[in-house]
Amino acid sequence: MKIGIVGCHGRMGQMLVSAVLADPRTSLSGGTERGGSPALGQDVGKALGVVTSLKVTEDARALFEASDAIIDFTGPAATVLHARLAVETGKALVVGTTGLAEDDETVLLQTALSVPVVYAPNFSMGVTLLSALVEKTATVLDNNYDIEIVEMHHRHKVDAPSGTALGLGKAAAKGRAIALDHVWRKSRDGVTGPRSKGEIGFASLRGGDVVGDHTVIFAGDGERIEITHKASNRAVFATGAVRAALWTRDRSPGLYSMFDVLGL
Ligand code: NAD
Repeated sequence: MKIGIVGCHGRMGQMLVSAVLADPRTSLSGGTERGGSPALGQDVGKALGVVTSLKVTEDARALFEASDAIIDFTGPAATVLHARLAVETGKALVVGTTGLAEDDETVLLQTALSVPVVYAPNFSMGVTLLSALVEKTATVLDNNYDIEIVEMHHRHKVDAPSGTALGLGKAAAKGRAIALDHVWRKSRDGVTGPRSKGEIGFASLRGGDVVGDHTVIFAGDGERIEITHKASNRAVFATGAVRAALWTRDRSPGLYSMFDVLGL
């Protein structure tokens, strides 16, 4: 499968280039970067010390046309543009970008009417399983168990709570058959009053080079369950995204998640 990487010079972009080159089932069709990026015109593999003979370009349309599937870990504005190109060129799209607004997610839904789209806040197998465990735990423990989600990421991360933390919150809310946005408390500051029953709370820590730590706490009277996942290498997200891209082959249009890819 020919896979193109948009945002190929980003932290995840480079991991994705490396994962596509390493997988015998995939070949790299090229990479794009935003206008003004110092990577434009360089070899797509330069930052990795690899010669691919493919140059980083700004021409996303040409990359879509040359690819079977595109992997996008960029930012919300770029992802919306790429979703439109996926429809126009009929190519599958794998989206790892987080921090999408509701309107942006609506664009992905519309895109998925024409092409397969895999959209996940976290492409690691471990977090996908964690999410399934959280949903199950929330179905068993009623709201006498307070759910709090703590995440920590590197100092460069721009959105909070992390997309993964919100995804875990959604899984917990699903287990309790409620909508997350009715019960979430995304941060606390000052005199907040006592905790409301049934609330799902979030806390975000930022610092250093932390790839991604998530803990979901179910705190009851007399006991506490904590389920934790720690990513120590971004490569786990990249191999998961490549697996998702391969999975889109001959797939009908639709909006899919990592649960679908792993058959969970
Ligand atoms: P980054 O800032 O290092 O990389 C983003 C890259 O996209 C940059 O190189 C930027 O120049 C490029 N870009 C921006 N606009 C573009 C455009 N119009 N065309 C082409 N390239 C463009 O960030 P990162 O740490 O690699 O993370 C990227 C996104 O992926 C974030 O939203 C992050 O939260 C998310 N992420 C998701 C997962 C997951 O498993 N779903 C894992 C890690 C990171």
